[in-house]
Amino acid sequence: MNFLVCVKNVVDTSKMRIDPITGRLDRNGAKSIINPLDLNALEAALSLRKELGGTVSVISMGPPPVEEILRDSLARGADKAYLITDRKFGGADTLATSYTLAAGIEKIGNFDFIFCGQESLDSNTAQVGPELAGLLNIESICSIVDLKYKGENIVEVKRKMNKNVEILEVKLPALFTVSSELNNPGYPSIKGILNKKNFEIISLTADDLKVDSERIGIKGSPTQVRGIRPIIPVKKENISIDTPNMEESVNLFLKAMKKIKVI
Ligand code: FAD
Repeated sequence: MNFLVCVKNVVDTSKMRIDPITGRLDRNGAKSIINPLDLNALEAALSLRKELGGTVSVISMGPPPVEEILRDSLARGADKAYLITDRKFGGADTLATSYTLAAGIEKIGNFDFIFCGQESLDSNTAQVGPELAGLLNIESICSIVDLKYKGENIVEVKRKMNKNVEILEVKLPALFTVSSELNNPGYPSIKGILNKKNFEIISLTADDLKVDSERIGIKGSPTQVRGIRPIIPVKKENISIDTPNMEESVNLFLKAMKKIKVI
């Protein structure tokens, strides 16, 4: 089996604040870390490799210092690491990020399992996993809390939906976004830590991926950020939209967003 884990370099938001006057991010004292849920994603791939055999690869898109989280992933037991890096990718929103990651994944091989974190600690949209699956034309199951390989390329997963747990079967290849309830991530090995500097990181640029220049970086990003402000606590409401009709579900979703004044 071939496993791929998407890992994102994030700013440790517990050490970051927003200047209430300028609205700017104050990153002083905040260091970069591997997105915490991506450690759960990596753990899922490593334990499945133990059970089924195969190779675990990790991939990230970001500037060169992102190599550090890839080295950390190799120290934790991953076999191969890929960094998609190029100035042309700068300013990417989730759509351009997913398009670029999908192009990288198509370039490096075929994967049976692709794992992502459910969401990132910083931008936190939870969009990249499902967008990636859409672009790769494979199934995606989000927010999984349990996963069992049943044989013959069938996987049984549990995911939490409000207070209920849904049990689903999915045929591989598929993409799973994982929640922190799935497992407890392990630690890097001593040998891995000592070897970190010698690990090979395979870099991929825009030219290597032969991407459409209109779909990457700022050019390929339809999202406009109007401003940044501290989060104001809001009353949470669980809304369940259960219709197979895509247009109807989008309309119901927009109506629900208007009702709680998000849009
Ligand atoms: P989510 O969807 O919450 O992440 C879920 C999972 O997807 C992660 O756990 C991980 O497994 C995977 N994943 C997400 N991103 C990556 C990645 N890069 N590599 C591998 N796996 C990943 N960010 C910048 O750093 N620099 C910029 O210049 C920049 N410009 C932006 C401009 C705009 C207009 C917008 C809207 C955003 C910009 N961002 C920028 C933020 C950037 O778009 C997001 O960080 C990125 O798209 C991922 O979104 P997310 O963090 O919400 O991921």
